[in-house]
Amino acid sequence: MPYTPKVGDPISSLDTPSMIVDLDLMESNIAKLMSQLLPTGVDIRPHSKTTKSAILAKRLIAAGAKGACVAKLSEAEVMCEKGLTDLLITCEIIGAAKVQRLVELFAKFREIRIVVDSEEGARAIDEALEKSGAEERIMTLIDLDVGLHRTGVQPGEPALKLAKTVAGLKHLRLIGVQGYEGHLQHIHGLEERKRLCLESMQILTQTADALRKDGHQIDVVTTGGTGTAEFCVTVPGVTEVQPGSFLFMDTDYRNAVGSKYSNSLTILSTVLSKQGPKCVTIDAGLKSLTTDSGLAECKTAGYAYGVMGDEHGSLAWTDGPDLKVGDRVEMVPSHIDPTINLHDVYYAYRKGIVEEIWLVDGRGKVQ
Ligand code: PLP
Ligand code: MN
Repeated sequence: MPYTPKVGDPISSLDTPSMIVDLDLMESNIAKLMSQLLPTGVDIRPHSKTTKSAILAKRLIAAGAKGACVAKLSEAEVMCEKGLTDLLITCEIIGAAKVQRLVELFAKFREIRIVVDSEEGARAIDEALEKSGAEERIMTLIDLDVGLHRTGVQPGEPALKLAKTVAGLKHLRLIGVQGYEGHLQHIHGLEERKRLCLESMQILTQTADALRKDGHQIDVVTTGGTGTAEFCVTVPGVTEVQPGSFLFMDTDYRNAVGSKYSNSLTILSTVLSKQGPKCVTIDAGLKSLTTDSGLAECKTAGYAYGVMGDEHGSLAWTDGPDLKVGDRVEMVPSHIDPTINLHDVYYAYRKGIVEEIWLVDGRGKVQ
């Protein structure tokens, strides 16, 4: 018999490591975000880089979101095939192979939106669309550097110059500006995060105004993540926010933002071996939990996690009940997005019973 966990199974029967989601907590995270942000009238375009799941992107739309963001073209391809077509691809599309894939995707799905931060990038897409005989223009946003220094054209003259180029291209339609302040998301302390965020929002909205003065129609001004969306929506001129991690959270975000949203996703793991009176080895290592943002935490306080290699981790404790071979533990990821990308499926449960099973549709879709 192949291993086929089903809806209705108890969580306790799942093999491990397994990625499990507490539905009550996840739903409460969605309700909190929507009830705070929707009344502002700003569009919510949640970032699916976190979930990589079409089902979850659709669920967020049902809860009030306008479309979704994806990071990469290959994520857009899977999402479109699963019926999710109002998508903003938030990374630049560069290189002949990717541009060709974009042309093919756009031939089928006209609602997709792209960002550009260079004339070369914009022209390459325009030329490829021209060659393909495309008749419609692809919705395009200028990606602006609002302080992250990752991608984005500089504000001021460079942004105006790029906008002029884009507006002059036959197959691109300039609709707005994206300015993602990723460097501010995890700042501890609400006041400091808010102050710096509002500074970045000034850069973004002033650039949008400058583009309008130059004759461009700028309808979309998109920005924000889990750590800043609540501040972004208060800024006149911001039309859209892109939070992603709020759905599941992680320890890094919890440490920065506090307990406003709950850690609703954990990695269920099994104790494999006893290695000392107060130390065991579990079956979740680097291939189940990422470590770039610090170590994962055991959901039960007092058990300290350590990495023991690709497949193994350790848990050590001073007091608290002993763990023994075969025991189950839940680990809270330190960085949710790359952790989800390590797993094939989510097991979503309520009161200990699997209620839904979702694929990580965009797993490994990094192109
Ligand atoms: N927008 C962009 C462009 C991003 O790169 C990210 C995440 O890195 C987000 C939005 C969502 O941020 P978060 O997951 O922190 O809510
Ligand atoms: Mn992340």
